[in-house]
Amino acid sequence: LIQLSIPLNYLGMVYREVKQALTNIERMFVLLAEVREVEDAPGAPALAVGGGEVRFEHVDFHYSPDRPILADVDFRIPAGQTLAVVGTTGAGKSTLARLLFRFYDVSGGRITIDGQDIRAVSQQSLRAAIGIVPQDTVLFNDSIYYNIAYGRPDATREEVVAAAKAAHIHGFIESLPQGYDTGVGERGLKLSGGEKQRVAIARTLLKNPAILVFDEATSALDTRTEKIIQGELDGIARGRTTLVIAHRLSTIVDADQILVLEHGRVVERGSHDELLALGGRYAQLWTMQQRERSRSTEPAAEPV
Ligand code: ADP
Repeated sequence: LIQLSIPLNYLGMVYREVKQALTNIERMFVLLAEVREVEDAPGAPALAVGGGEVRFEHVDFHYSPDRPILADVDFRIPAGQTLAVVGTTGAGKSTLARLLFRFYDVSGGRITIDGQDIRAVSQQSLRAAIGIVPQDTVLFNDSIYYNIAYGRPDATREEVVAAAKAAHIHGFIESLPQGYDTGVGERGLKLSGGEKQRVAIARTLLKNPAILVFDEATSALDTRTEKIIQGELDGIARGRTTLVIAHRLSTIVDADQILVLEHGRVVERGSHDELLALGGRYAQLWTMQQRERSRSTEPAAEPV
């Protein structure tokens, strides 16, 4: 039995190594495919960031010509304000974030930041101006220090620690056996959804971008952690132009503007109160989510 179990364990290890390598290769191709989509215009200047006003002007988009994804999407996020986009899965919400980051070029219309067409500036300067807190943060197989410093590789140790403190993850890191040198990612310590979100927040704080994109977690966090993280996100959004890709409506009640996207078209826009009063699609989504929420948090009926 012992003789058998050793090679089997070994095989298991090899399998995991190979699977890990494949996952990284897959990721690399996804990244490359996205990066290769667009190129800098020759001699493209750096984006000159002022307040960080974002405009989508009559934007049309398709990944492939036979399937339009966005049609005539038009909005403005004044510097420092928050715009949230809601809508059912597949409506095109995440595509808006990909276009802003210029993973793809628009098929029609244009996107500007502080008046500059994002196709006319260097991608490096564009991406330096935008911080993304993604749905699911990818951790590199490296130290937790590296994973935070990735937000701005030339940051000093003091700055990295300050960002970790502001993201409320410093105490957790200090409690680890090797502190900031602890290895994380698939080959190291596995972090919980909430801890990964905090690493993402620390990274973003370090990067200190004028524009923020939150691609909201769909359901990874428990309600309590979600509330805490939401408070932290609100904190880092303050004073920055923010685009929220919202999957739950409860988190965007305070957004300056809400867009309802349906099949790639803006069908409603306004504040939370305005949209509720309108009694249309948003109000319907809101009622639906409230009902789901109370159903999932209601304790099972118990004899009193
Ligand atoms: P949402 O974020 O609202 O759920 P997405 O913006 O992710 O929607 O997707 C909008 C539509 O575009 C979906 O129908 C999706 O299948 C399609 N789509 C997303 N990414 C790609 C891609 N890389 N290539 C082709 N189609 C895509």
